[in-house]
Formats: sequence, C-alpha cells, structure tokens
Amino acid sequence: MKAPAFSYARPSSLAEVLALMAEHGEEARLLAGGQTLHATLNMRLSEPSILIDLQAVNELKGIEIAGDALRIGAMVTHTDIGNSDLVAQHLPLLSAAVPHIAHRAIRNLGTFGGSIAYGDPAAEWPACLLALDGVVVAMGPQGKRRIAAHDFFTGLYSTDLQDDELIVACELPLKTGTHAFAFDELARRHGDYAVVGLAATAQVKATGLQHVRLAWLGAVSQPYRSTQTEALLEGQVLSEALITQAMQCLKDEMLTEADLTHSAAAKSHLAGVMLKRALHTLNRTRP
Ligand SMILES: Cc1cc2nc3c(=O)[nH]c(=O)nc-3n(C[C@H](O)[C@H](O)[C@H](O)COP(=O)(O)OP(=O)(O)OC[C@H]3O[C@@H](n4cnc5c(N)ncnc54)[C@H](O)[C@@H]3O)c2cc1C
Repeated sequence: MKAPAFSYARPSSLAEVLALMAEHGEEARLLAGGQTLHATLNMRLSEPSILIDLQAVNELKGIEIAGDALRIGAMVTHTDIGNSDLVAQHLPLLSAAVPHIAHRAIRNLGTFGGSIAYGDPAAEWPACLLALDGVVVAMGPQGKRRIAAHDFFTGLYSTDLQDDELIVACELPLKTGTHAFAFDELARRHGDYAVVGLAATAQVKATGLQHVRLAWLGAVSQPYRSTQTEALLEGQVLSEALITQAMQCLKDEMLTEADLTHSAAAKSHLAGVMLKRALHTLNRTRP
C-alpha cells in the first residue's frame, strides 16, 4: 500500500516546529528518521495531513555532557550512539544495546527521540532509559518539561508526552566507576524486535548492590521495570541462593504476555534465565 497524500514542511528551528505544531494540531505528525512512521503511513494506520520533518533542526542534534548527565538530542541516530566515544566512556550500556536494534540501514536513520516517543515495548532505548534513570526533555507551548523515565511510559505505545509537545533530548546521569551494567536480548533473528530483553544496571560494592535497575523489553505491553525484584536485590551481596530467590520473585512479579511466536510461560522462563546471566555479569565487576 502507499501512504495517503500529505503536505510536507522542513523547518530549521525549534520555534518553527512549535509554530507548525500549533497551526496544524492533530493533523500534523513529526517525522524523525521515518523508520516507523513511513511503515504506519503506508499501512494507513495514520493519515496526517502534514509531516513536519525534524532533520534540519540543529537544536535536536548532538551528544554532549551537560552537568552530571549525558544529553542525547532527539535526532541523534542509533548509529551516532554506537559511534560515540562519550557514550562508550560514560554509558556503555547504550553502546552494548545498539547492535541489537534492527539493521544498519535502519540504525543510520532511526533516532533516539523517535524511539522514545514511539514507546515500543519491544524496543531497546525505552528499556535503557529506564535502567539509567534517564529524563525526557519535552518542549511545548508552555516551555520545557522534564519527565523522569519511570513516569514517561504509560502503556502500550503510550507515553506522558502531550499532543502539543515534542521530545528535544534525553538526559542520562553519568555513571561512576563502580557502576556495572548488563544488556541481553533474545530475538528470533538478529535485528528483529526482542522476544525478551533486559537492560540491568547497579552499583556493585563489596558491601552489596546499590541502585539496582532491571528494565525489560518485549516482556509485557510496555517498557517495564521489575521493582520488586530490584528491591529484593538492593543492598545484598550476590550469591547463588540470592539469584535463585530473585528469579522466583521476578516470575511472581512480572506477568509476561504472549506474542505471535512465544507464550507467556516461555517468556517468563527466558526472562529468568536472562536475569541470572545479567546478575552474574554484574557480579564479575565486584571490587
Ligand atoms: C524492519 C525494522 C526493524 C526494526 N527493528 C527495531 C528493533 O529491533 N529495535 C528498535 O528499537 N527499533 C526497531 N525499529 C524501529 C527503528 O528503530 C526506528 O528508528 C525507531 O522506532 C524510531 O523511529 P524514527 O526515529 O525513525 O522515528 P519516526 O518513524 O520518524 O517516528 C516515530 C514516531 O515518533 C514520533 N516522533 C519522532 N520524533 C519525535 C520527537 N522528537 N518528539 C515527539 N515525537 C516524535 C513520530 O511522529 C512518530 O509517531 C525497526 C524498524 C524497522 C523498519
């Protein structure tokens, strides 16, 4: 199928984007990398009368340190993140996740902001944002608004972003030396969306784990943090007995949902195995 007819605008500043959004309201759709939007237009799941292309808006680009956080502009592509020394140095979880996102051609165009805005439960960036306690910086007619990742994802493809807002950037707190991470994902073929995936982070100290974050993709109908399992692990020194307890806690807590290829029970089992592997990975970095 072909997309319905639409007008096209290519503003070069954030102010122009906001003016176009105000003028066209619900009839407008923001176009970032187009790697999701083009498909939904072609399938006629969305029929906007105008696309507002964000490619020429420099304010939405760039990766930089801003205070104690790394700021990733909304229009930064998946490839940009994979190639970034700043990301590799400060937030290696993101570097580890990049190769799991689709294929190179899609990674060259698809954007961080587009992925966060779309809020796909099986996508990598929403889970990483949760695991890293990131903040979404949104802009609308009332100005800027910062939304913590754990408040941002509200349901299946649903976020706290309002119709008159766009994402300008995400801010991710820089990590210290004791901060460990693990990223794991199972997909049917390389580049497919995740069947189940886990982005895990914690500070690993001789006295125990701190700030444990377990963020899941593909497991339930939205990007999801298993907070009860996190709480069980918080302050504890990892042992095989604790890992077994954590796996049981996760099974009780996270009510996995079936997809076209995997049952809920299979996903629950896979998540348990993934948790065990991730905790072993975190433990290897214990001082
Ligand atoms: C074959 C295929 C496989 C894929 N596999 C994966 C995968 O394994 N993992 C994965 O994570 N993704 C995957 N994707 C999706 C891809 O990563 C997209 O790049 C990603 O969803 C973001 O899309 P985009 O930047 O191209 O945004 P677009 O497609 O341009 O936009 C997506 C949506 O977000 C809105 N939007 C975009 N930018 C903003 C903004 N700044 N503020 C507010 N709203 C905005 C748009 O209006 C639109 O509704 C795949 C895509 C394809 C085609």
